Amino acid sequence: MKRNVVILMMVLLAGISSKTIAQTEKQPNVILITLDGLRWQELFSGADPLLVANKKYVGDTTGLKAKFWRDTPEERRTVLMPFFWNKVQKMGQLHGNRNAGSKVDLTNKMWFSYPGYNEILTGEADDERINSNRKENNPNKTILERVNNLPAYKGKVAAFGSWDVFPFIVNEARSGVPVNAGFKIAEGNDLTEREIFLNQLQSEIPSPWGSVRLDAFTQHYALEYMKRKHPKLVFISYGETDDFAHDGDYDSYLKSAQNTDGLIEELWKFTQQDPFYKDNTTFIITTDHGRGTDPLDTWRGHGSSINGAGSVWVVAFGKGVSALGEITKEEQLYTNQIAPTVIKNLGVTLEGPSFKGKPLSLDKK
Ligand SMILES: [Zn+2]
Repeated sequence: MKRNVVILMMVLLAGISSKTIAQTEKQPNVILITLDGLRWQELFSGADPLLVANKKYVGDTTGLKAKFWRDTPEERRTVLMPFFWNKVQKMGQLHGNRNAGSKVDLTNKMWFSYPGYNEILTGEADDERINSNRKENNPNKTILERVNNLPAYKGKVAAFGSWDVFPFIVNEARSGVPVNAGFKIAEGNDLTEREIFLNQLQSEIPSPWGSVRLDAFTQHYALEYMKRKHPKLVFISYGETDDFAHDGDYDSYLKSAQNTDGLIEELWKFTQQDPFYKDNTTFIITTDHGRGTDPLDTWRGHGSSINGAGSVWVVAFGKGVSALGEITKEEQLYTNQIAPTVIKNLGVTLEGPSFKGKPLSLDKK
């Protein structure tokens, strides 16, 4: 009798847990993407007239103009980021064109990377404690950690970044969220052939920088992992744009912006042919900070002393996002709204502290 009760309970529990898993599978997925330090100016107006032919920042001005210079900002942005301006404009939303009245701002006052990513990923600025880029574990819990702590989402969250500070921002050690960032390789017994090849290539293709890898590695480590494990919440942070800008290399900054536009298109196409992600995935894309414009040389930098470095942008498309295109009305959004938006679009309820910022109503027509 007792044994039968135990068996009955086990059968019931198995039924419940497989039902929970099936329900979780049907919940929407979110891919949160950042392009480090890409200015709203290039996103909405393409190549900058003051920089594209400037010999101080461009090696081959004729070549760069042929590639990226056109007469109008609309043509220039389309040639720079064709996926954003041909496809995303039709199926999603682009916020942050200050020339059109749409403003997106950081709420942290630091205007550099760790504070920016902390704000994006936790939903709150913490200028008291997050005020350097040092490799120190984040005392704050990111939404990646909080979602990964939900029993139904355990192991269904993953982060990929080109910058080697992400394991600390996400607090990989505490959160249990796997972070493949910097020059980390893919690990495990079930790696695909491509992952094994990526591990080899990464050591054979030197990065121009000490702490940031080329974005193609971040891209393909993320893609292979998504094919293999189907995480429901993915964070991908591309880094090249910021580093080429710091280098004062406007050619490479533009080419990298164009390349990243293509990487995001590749991700979108992958999700649309994978039954797990197809028509059930929200893309939210933003940046950790802006850069300067005046004096001209401040385009290379950011931080609290650089005018305009707190001005950012948000782009979204996919599941639950209305096709509003470029927002050309007065609005004021903030970066601390992104984390609650991700949670809202995932359709989960978190325990613990509520968010300061309101989620964006991406589904509003
Ligand atoms: Zn930077």
